Amino acid sequence: MRAYNFSAGPAILPEEVLKQAQAELLDYQGTGMSIMEMSHRGKEYSAVHDETIANIKELLSIPEGYSVLFLTGGASTQFAMIPMNLLGKEQVADYTNSGAWASKAIKEAKLLGKVNVAADCGKEIPTRVPRLDELKTTPGAAYLHITSNETISGAQWKVFPENDCLIADMSSDILSKPLDVSQFGLIYAGAQKNLGPAGITLVIMKDELAERCPETVPTMLRYKTHIEENSLYNTVPTFPVYILCLVTRWLKARGGLAGMQAINEAKAGKLYDAIDASGFYKGTAVRECRSDMNITWRLPSEELEAKFIAEASKQNLKTLKGHRSVGGIRASIYNAFPAEGVDALISFMKEFEARNG
Ligand SMILES: *Cc1c(COP(=O)(O)O)cnc(C)c1O
Repeated sequence: MRAYNFSAGPAILPEEVLKQAQAELLDYQGTGMSIMEMSHRGKEYSAVHDETIANIKELLSIPEGYSVLFLTGGASTQFAMIPMNLLGKEQVADYTNSGAWASKAIKEAKLLGKVNVAADCGKEIPTRVPRLDELKTTPGAAYLHITSNETISGAQWKVFPENDCLIADMSSDILSKPLDVSQFGLIYAGAQKNLGPAGITLVIMKDELAERCPETVPTMLRYKTHIEENSLYNTVPTFPVYILCLVTRWLKARGGLAGMQAINEAKAGKLYDAIDASGFYKGTAVRECRSDMNITWRLPSEELEAKFIAEASKQNLKTLKGHRSVGGIRASIYNAFPAEGVDALISFMKEFEARNG
């Protein structure tokens, strides 16, 4: 039996995708080889690589002048690559602090250049992202960095700030809804939340930005290298890209990102309604900033939270424990998480409250 897996990442993948990967695992399209065993420059893998890029461009309506890259080192390496490539010696980079992931990005950028924290609500509880009217950006800044969805606290930007070079860590909400890519200079996301398996990081960037890179940056850490080589400068993690390819096909078959947005809002809306209706459960994020991907809440005591998590697990509702740094409950309901699983969780919550409330 498949679990209702609420893990924040690596996270649930669509069952159809896993089944297709299983069916093709030993013999990819009559070649007698697994896609994992083939050259990253051969015809079979090349077709997968190019289709994945094309599907992402189509799903997000990415305008001309942007590249789609598959990099390694996780979103965490982007925390460093961005200032290495884009932050000039005499410049300042603006960052917003909205919590755990944003502060890691800030910490890394400070190792490499001058940073201005344009708004700081990183330690506030209940948790939120900055309001547009509180941003204090620097004239002439290299860029403004935001974290579109704080995976740990469950706070999400709903409207993005306007900026000449807006950069977003979208690790936990990329492809969850339509996006105007032209608003951004660069978007990045570790694959293991809402895209595919761990091992690749998706970067979508305006090509012209790659020209800013100083000559001293090592080859593998230059965006320009990967733009020029179509992410094939070295051996790309072929299997994660293949799974991502299947995920993008699955998204297209479900009505693209507008279709996903409707499904995601319905799933999250039901769960927040259940939290708000109870009085026993308390949402962690400020209402206007509530994430559609990572829903976080508390129970009246840590003892009850531990009991809730243990009993839920027995009912096939798995990995609901909040991040170790903050505790509480976290239900990550990414694209691949089925609506029936949300219904099952809500039934369990009502029943648990009736027994313990
Ligand atoms: C998980 C996560 C990261 C870190 O990703 P890695 O691929 O493990 O480096 C960064 N930012 C956000 C928002 C995340 O959710």
